Amino acid sequence: MNRLTDISYVKSVLSKHGFTFSKALGQNFLINPNVCPKMAEECGCGADVGVIEIGPGAGVLTNALADVAYKVVAIELDKRLISVLEETLSEHNNVKIINGDVMKLDIGKIIREEFEGGEAVVCANLPYYITSPVIMKFLEERLPINSLTVMVQKEAADRICAVPGTRESGAISAAVNYYSKPEILFRVSKGSFLPAPKVDSAVIKLNILKEPSVGVGDEKMFFKIVKAAFSQRRKTLANSLSSGLSISKSEVTQILERVGINQTARAEEMTMENFAAISDEFLN
Ligand code: SAM
Repeated sequence: MNRLTDISYVKSVLSKHGFTFSKALGQNFLINPNVCPKMAEECGCGADVGVIEIGPGAGVLTNALADVAYKVVAIELDKRLISVLEETLSEHNNVKIINGDVMKLDIGKIIREEFEGGEAVVCANLPYYITSPVIMKFLEERLPINSLTVMVQKEAADRICAVPGTRESGAISAAVNYYSKPEILFRVSKGSFLPAPKVDSAVIKLNILKEPSVGVGDEKMFFKIVKAAFSQRRKTLANSLSSGLSISKSEVTQILERVGINQTARAEEMTMENFAAISDEFLN
């Protein structure tokens, strides 16, 4: 039994260390006893696969991960939590805590040094204010990891995992689908956290692809097109591309015509193959 899911134990350790929750750092700690073992089991860590956790908080998920993985490397920004973690994780000798900002650290170097070329995954209950930047950092830097299993707000989960070409899709779904195969694992109610946030959450898993899901002539151009396409959701794709890329509407219209896309189409109707075709046509 993970005593960190016992609210009175967590509260007593936190108050002993004079800790108060910071909303700005997205501190909503898990208190539902069923969630962490499930995340640890589904993230793919194990006897030969290490795990990186972002934002261990009081250590509830870290504890569950340390039960399954041979090694856990947990990155926590809030200095006040380091002494808390030293106390709550004292029974584990396979956990390394790094005090730092996940957005500023050289994660590639950490992976090389801590896992020595072995396999690794990411598992985290992400601070909601940097959900997309963290995910994009891990994907864009092409870090040597098998997957990212992360808790995010439910709406973010739906957006991130949306299939490009469907109504919920956006720039983030296209980017995530380029580098990985995303899936929603399970929903988690807001009552599972202390303090309780305003909305429910979901755990998603991004299975990293060996090769991007579509071949493109120039990755930078591909992401430029995706970003411009979704910059003004109410407009047609042609209008968004024209204003987003600062080129004439007639030029955009000709390009779309050449790749067989209707002038009235919207960005959310575009599949990954459509975006790849548009981006390659822009290179000609
Ligand atoms: N893992 C714990 C749990 O599930 O109970 C805490 C999760 S809480 C949603 C997010 C954690 O991320 C907090 O501990 C917060 O201090 C930490 N955090 C926020 N911004 C961070 C950053 N830029 N780098 C590393 N950790 C960060």
